[in-house]
Amino acid sequence: MMSSSANDPSAIDCRTAAKSLYDFIDGRLPKAELGHVRAHIEMCTKCAPHFIFARQVLALLPVALPLAGDTSALRARVLAAIAEDGLLRPRGAE
Ligand SMILES: [Zn+2]
Repeated sequence: MMSSSANDPSAIDCRTAAKSLYDFIDGRLPKAELGHVRAHIEMCTKCAPHFIFARQVLALLPVALPLAGDTSALRARVLAAIAEDGLLRPRGAE
């Protein structure tokens, strides 16, 4: 039986994947969406490094910044780096 594509990388584009970055890492994505994002990351050489990098940075945060309770600035910088690659437009650029 041909089951269709819970894991079809073309189900979402790079911008959608990038927007889902932190929800994906934090495990907050709905299951269906999680499958799409994971499939996209595995197939897309453009997105994969960003997800790997962001996951590593966030994993290190509690060690690197024990006094920083707010990671929003760092998240913004990571997203800005992604934006520079054209995956997301910076806020206000559209
Ligand atoms: Zn992509």
